[in-house]
Amino acid sequence: MLCPCGSTLQFNDCCQLFITHKKSLSHPEQLMRSRFSAYATRNGQYIFDTYGEKAQSKQSVKEIQSWAEECLWIALRIHEAKDEIVEFSAFYIVDNTLCELRERSNFNLEHGLWRYIDGDITLHTEIKTIKRNEACPCNNYATAWSAKKEKKYKHCCGK
Ligand SMILES: [Zn+2]
Ligand SMILES: [Zn+2]
Repeated sequence: MLCPCGSTLQFNDCCQLFITHKKSLSHPEQLMRSRFSAYATRNGQYIFDTYGEKAQSKQSVKEIQSWAEECLWIALRIHEAKDEIVEFSAFYIVDNTLCELRERSNFNLEHGLWRYIDGDITLHTEIKTIKRNEACPCNNYATAWSAKKEKKYKHCCGK
């Protein structure tokens, strides 16, 4: 399968290497991408483990897991990655509604490892309600990892 982060590489040649700790992260964008891929593949533990210590104390793997499972994470778009900051949009579907979450995230090294510290959400919006017979909106995103070309929503993400 394609990597959810939109790199166009296979998952096992891309973010899965970080998620399974086979490869260590060398910059924040990799962490951002692999965290999105962990949401997409519903790996709450990795998301929890890559939060900074302070943020970890405020949440649980269980909460993260249920949010990851509630949504279908269809595409990631990186707007900017500079030093410790990554700005991105995550596109997801929940309750047949296409949503965009845009965030400017802060990363930092803790004990020599990159961690997600926090972020400013600059946009969180419902783009539209998806009808079962319309073309699946994932086809509009070049980086959508699970897109089945030209399929209707009911035969693609709405399945
Ligand atoms: Zn990836
Ligand atoms: Zn789709």
